[in-house]
Amino acid sequence: MGGGTMHGGMEREELTSQQIDYFKELLVKKKESLLFNSKYSDEYNLQLEDRSDEVDHANADVLNAERLRFRNRENFFEKKIDEALNRITMDEYGLCRDCGSSIGFLRLNARPTADLCIICKEEAERRELSRVSHKKSKSTGRQISL
Ligand SMILES: [Zn+2]
Repeated sequence: MGGGTMHGGMEREELTSQQIDYFKELLVKKKESLLFNSKYSDEYNLQLEDRSDEVDHANADVLNAERLRFRNRENFFEKKIDEALNRITMDEYGLCRDCGSSIGFLRLNARPTADLCIICKEEAERRELSRVSHKKSKSTGRQISL
């Protein structure tokens, strides 16, 4: 006993610093394009408001609702990007938030903001799903018959 073998039998797919740099750049670019888009849609919004009249009012409402939904999604995504960038700074990027194992380059490449490994992600989705269906069957009460 007394070896310095940190990597026991665990197969850890650690990211190299080049890979982390690559993801960092990717995330920063994504964030920039998000910010650019929201700036652009603000300007578009202003132009639209200038021209809107009574007839288009309903249409404008629909458009605004759409835009708000889109904006919410963007905000959510921007937050995910910030979190991922934060994890890079903290040297935690690429590690699963739940079990601490490596998320893996391929998964991160497909989803650079991922903070759960595929196993924990599937587990979380299963939990989410059963929670939702539980809620649903509760709200419909006794009408459910199985
Ligand atoms: Zn995990």
